[in-house]
Amino acid sequence: MAKSEIAKLLPGYNCGECGQKSCRDFASVLVNVEWISKCPILQQEKFKGRVKQIEELLALDRSKDEEIIGVLDGLKADFSLAPLPGEPSCREDLHPFDISVVLNPGDVFRYRPLGCPVTHFAKVLKCSHGLATVHLVGPVHLLKGSPPPEDIGLCMVAGFEGVVRRGKVPEVGQTVKFLPEHCMMQKVHSGVIVHSEGRRVRIEGIDLKVW
Ligand code: SF4
Repeated sequence: MAKSEIAKLLPGYNCGECGQKSCRDFASVLVNVEWISKCPILQQEKFKGRVKQIEELLALDRSKDEEIIGVLDGLKADFSLAPLPGEPSCREDLHPFDISVVLNPGDVFRYRPLGCPVTHFAKVLKCSHGLATVHLVGPVHLLKGSPPPEDIGLCMVAGFEGVVRRGKVPEVGQTVKFLPEHCMMQKVHSGVIVHSEGRRVRIEGIDLKVW
């Protein structure tokens, strides 16, 4: 996939200065960041931003072959899940088991995910159909010296949303093992991909039991 994305970022002059017949041919052989300089057109100031994008795509391509191993369990993950651009953690969709709990955007609370021994701290992004979409914020009250946020008890983690940073981008419908980058235990999770847009994915059926 990166090859076709790289081809779109090349100048499109098909001048052959790089030693290849066309920009598309150059994209197909380009595996090394140093080789970018073989295209003299890309060295022009107006293509500076594109060079950076090509470097990032090459780095992502290399990361596909990296092994991603959970620290706690030593299990191998298919990919690591990073936050969406500009967000503090991957998004999690939570369903509290206590039906009396009312959550509103901006609320900060603590909870324990089903199957996980660690207490989490989260901030509500939105609520819909009994699910709260949250960011994990950590125990910030300790730094501020303020009282701990309300404990809403056990929650089912219904979904994760984020960006595949390292590893292979999965297909919709695929059962995957993934490592959320914000997981304090760095434990591999499992789930099913229900939506993808480029590297952005939504995973549901979350489980900490991984075979
Ligand atoms: S030198 Fe650059 S513009 Fe010319 S064909 Fe090669 S990649 Fe395309």
